[in-house]
Amino acid sequence: MPSVAEILIPLALDTPYSYVVPAGLELANGDVVQVPLGPREIVGVVWGLTETAGGSNLRPVTGRLPYPPLSEPLRSLVDWIARYTLAPKGSALSMVLRLPDEANAAETIRVAVRITDKPPSRPTAARTKVLAVAADGALRGKSALAKEAGVSVSVIDGLIDDGVLETVAVEPEPVAPRPDPDFPRTPLSPAQGEAVDELLKGFPWHQPPGDTEAPADLRPVLLEGVTGSGKTEVYFEAVAACIRAGLQALILMPEIALTAQFLDRFAARFGVRPAAWHSGIGGKRRERLRAAVAEGEALVVVGARSALFLPFARLGLIVVDEEHETAYKQEDGVHYHARDMAVVRGRLEGCPVVLTSATPAIETRVNAARDRYRHVLLPERFGGRKMPDIAAIDMRRDQPERGRFLSPPLVNAVKHTLERGEQALLFLNRRGYAPLTLCRACGHRYQCKNCSTWLVEHRFRRALVCHQCGYAERRPEACTECGTFDNLTACGPGVERIAEEAAEVFPGRRIVVLSSDFPGGAERLRQELDAVAAGECDVVIGTQLVAKGHNFPFLTLVGVLDADIGLTSGDPRAAERTFQLLQQVTGRAGRGEKPGRALVQTYQPDHPVIAALLSGDAERFYAEEIQAREAAGLPPFGRLAALIVSASDRAVAEAHGQALARAADPPEGVMVLGPAEAPLALVRGRYRFRLLVKTERNVDLQGYLRAWLARGPKVRGNVRVAIDVDPQSF
Ligand code: ADP
Ligand code: ZN
Repeated sequence: MPSVAEILIPLALDTPYSYVVPAGLELANGDVVQVPLGPREIVGVVWGLTETAGGSNLRPVTGRLPYPPLSEPLRSLVDWIARYTLAPKGSALSMVLRLPDEANAAETIRVAVRITDKPPSRPTAARTKVLAVAADGALRGKSALAKEAGVSVSVIDGLIDDGVLETVAVEPEPVAPRPDPDFPRTPLSPAQGEAVDELLKGFPWHQPPGDTEAPADLRPVLLEGVTGSGKTEVYFEAVAACIRAGLQALILMPEIALTAQFLDRFAARFGVRPAAWHSGIGGKRRERLRAAVAEGEALVVVGARSALFLPFARLGLIVVDEEHETAYKQEDGVHYHARDMAVVRGRLEGCPVVLTSATPAIETRVNAARDRYRHVLLPERFGGRKMPDIAAIDMRRDQPERGRFLSPPLVNAVKHTLERGEQALLFLNRRGYAPLTLCRACGHRYQCKNCSTWLVEHRFRRALVCHQCGYAERRPEACTECGTFDNLTACGPGVERIAEEAAEVFPGRRIVVLSSDFPGGAERLRQELDAVAAGECDVVIGTQLVAKGHNFPFLTLVGVLDADIGLTSGDPRAAERTFQLLQQVTGRAGRGEKPGRALVQTYQPDHPVIAALLSGDAERFYAEEIQAREAAGLPPFGRLAALIVSASDRAVAEAHGQALARAADPPEGVMVLGPAEAPLALVRGRYRFRLLVKTERNVDLQGYLRAWLARGPKVRGNVRVAIDVDPQSF
């Protein structure tokens, strides 16, 4: 009887397609195969196999491809993500199955060419060009050399045949050096030691000494401790224990926290830097690392959220560092939250998951309070260091002069800090020079052509830039509306403007602005962060980029320029966000030998978020916020999903949104709100309307959404409906 294979294809398809398995081809679930799809051949994965009686008119599977098969837990993860996020199953698969494209595969050269002493017998123009390039003696791949010299590969081959060039085997640089769990390390503090014991207790691969019968407890663990309490060293011990047990560990980090500083800390504990997986890692290296993960060679991988989909052979532990970070939520394509999916993957793999944070997400805190998660605490800073003193500067009283943003008390505090030879950080979560530019003559405000956003002035680039879509235009000399010269005015501060002010009030000091606009890209930025950590600058002016995860030992003063920024938005998560961010940024102070202090400029010192921050009473904040969420039926006490309907024509988008709303027919326990203009009503030339679905906790949200979309209006023209289950801002 012929077998039929259900092949899932990594395209936006909901279900696998059926193919017949040709005689002689043995297939198993998870195998990576090539199949015909329309006129072309495409890669897919075996999602199921059945025997059928009788002939079949299905097209045959072309063949198996030499890639590691997808394990059962990884396939279940794909199914799970598709079911939970309502993304097409094939789209979920595409996140797992990033195979090298042909170009990259061809490039995987283990052999390079190099020039020899032999002169060429027939010096043609093409040969001369090659030799000019090769003269430096460097090793190059054949095609790379041909490309650089602008000749065809046959010219290179000719020179190799003549002995003018020679081939050399190239040992690829190891992608996954082996961490040593028993590398000598500094001893843990008693509190850290206890936390490690707590953590390991219940891990299925861990045998507590003298207690062989302890039952495994696979609940995720929240490892919570103030910034600087030594959580990293604690989870490093869990990683070490995992490697000793012969298993692999995955450490997820928000992309920006993947600094050289972190990799060095890892090296100090394990003797080598870990294998790092992030968006900057190139094609060939990426594939070698994937293969090393699949073969169980890579023992520890540190990566941004996409590392969650690596094909681990023997996954023993997942750590999600800074679990509250919004960067874990992917908001295009498949809308998933990497922290939540890490918990799912852990469950499917039967491996423990550790979430760490100084300021856990409300959801995570509630899970811990309800014993769905274990809770391990590190309440104090390592080495008896104190948490910084936090004080408010009431901006209603201590206003700076017009056009200035640093209040007199803050300026004084920075001066004293610098006089003592210490560092200060001025935090403002706004990139660029000014968030709004307007013409004083006619009142015109400069807005993006494609989005409903104000253009942000970037003075160093002499441009007005949209932070949503990247659109940029030259800052005009004369107003484009009324033609008046020299009347454009910058409204409000961005970090560049603060730098200008700081240069005036702190003359002769080394001032650096750190934001994602830092010139020279991610690598230069990493170097600069390391330079700051080494004390090579006096005043750091930074966005949230510097607020998180970094350890600046010389930093003793943090000034928060506008604590109120996040509080005014209508987003119910604004309080949580602001509290987390302010806790993180003020926690940067005093992590070294000297105690730290933070000054917070605010117009509303009595706001509950600011008050909780000042009093250092995180518990009160959590208690109040959790109560407020419960009262409003917001997550995690209720469930939410957002449907974003967009189209290039505003009326079309709105009409589709309204038709959807008419088909909503919400049952008991479900509420549908909207359509309303989305908070960003125009993005990249597309108008956006939003429907919000709010349900009680026990409602099958996905089931409802699926039924609704099925009976709703057909998506036509360039209308798109994006589904965001558990939206992070709403
Ligand atoms: P967290 O991750 O909780 O913010 P870290 O793990 O970064 O805290 O630790 C804070 C500081 O204390 C770091 O500079 C770290 O090197 C130091 N530290 C933590 N544990 C130890 C230890 N056992 N021995 C020496 N230094 C430690
Ligand atoms: Zn724009």
